[in-house]
Amino acid sequence: MEVPALLDIQGVEGLSRISYWQYIRFNKCILSGLYPRNVRVDRRFTSTETYGIRQLSGIVFHKILEEMPAEISKNAKGDKSDLEKYCFDKIREVEKKISLETGDVRYEGALDGGEGSKIIKSIKSVLDVRIKNHQAESGDISRYPEKMFYSKDGTVCGKPDLVVKKGDWIKVLDYKLVDLERITSDQLSDYKNQIHLYSYLLKDNFGIYPKEAEIIGLSGKKLEIELNEQNSDEVYLRLKVYLDQVNRVVERNQHSFRNLCSPGDDPCSYCQAKPLCPALRESNVNVNLPKKSHFVVGYQHGQFRYSRRGGAIISIKPMFRTFGFSSELITLSKIQKERFPSLTNSPGQLIVATNFIANQGDVAAMAGFDSRIVAIEESNLHE
Ligand code: SF4
Repeated sequence: MEVPALLDIQGVEGLSRISYWQYIRFNKCILSGLYPRNVRVDRRFTSTETYGIRQLSGIVFHKILEEMPAEISKNAKGDKSDLEKYCFDKIREVEKKISLETGDVRYEGALDGGEGSKIIKSIKSVLDVRIKNHQAESGDISRYPEKMFYSKDGTVCGKPDLVVKKGDWIKVLDYKLVDLERITSDQLSDYKNQIHLYSYLLKDNFGIYPKEAEIIGLSGKKLEIELNEQNSDEVYLRLKVYLDQVNRVVERNQHSFRNLCSPGDDPCSYCQAKPLCPALRESNVNVNLPKKSHFVVGYQHGQFRYSRRGGAIISIKPMFRTFGFSSELITLSKIQKERFPSLTNSPGQLIVATNFIANQGDVAAMAGFDSRIVAIEESNLHE
């Protein structure tokens, strides 16, 4: 039996503009870069987008900086209680929003304790750096925190965390929730390219190429980046040319996945489209997924059982799976009802479960923090 078309290839659309991180994703697999915004899928699958704790922390971190009122950031040098309250409220707001979007209550309170405190600590170090910069710079200064800049032709965009401008002097700063002493050379090269792209966009907008650039990591550690205007032009051009290529490939291949998809360990590991992706199925799963990223598409076999330790246990007759290859039935456990309120106990229904924790040889997997499980009535696909 064939897995139904959960993803509509004719509904794939090209992009009007591209950012540096989209470019990185596209380079790995075009469809992965287009998913979910430019790909039409069964309406129940919008919520297969999942967030790990690190990703959630990154979203909150940037949201806090983006929306922080000036009076809070200005006063952050002295009494930090307003700042802390603001950060906690923002953490709650983002958790709630993502919880509503995904229908997963577990996101509420996900950053309680250690993770939330880490975010606030990083925000404080970012503000300390901002304040020091502020003190060092006097006179008529303009600041552009978290502002999106577009190239004049509208094809390339980027949002530096902070731009400081005084006359014809511009400095660009970007904050990373990483320990800069532990990043790989590939990561560093991406960060440098990203800063060079921002510098191009600033030149395009202000007519002035920035003089200084800095990346700030965890604990406020700084990395100065030497800017080179020619590099900036090259990065911009690379993205622009790549955008055209992607759109041409999309136009030519709207009826075929072959040239849009590049299944492999790296691109597929964290791709949100993988439970729906026909290319991955057709590749016969030579793809080695990380332990927390396995998925199964199949029919519910028998009734749910319930464990004394909590949660439902579901047997699945798999049509496609990335683990448990030796077994006709595989078992999913720790399925908490409150996390998946729309999931009913209906033997025979089609189930797609993703981001379950298993090794490839296991015949059972359990739900983890960012697992999703969705039941589909096949007659309703793409309605
Ligand atoms: S699952 Fe793999 S092949 Fe399919 S869209 Fe994602 S990265 Fe591409």
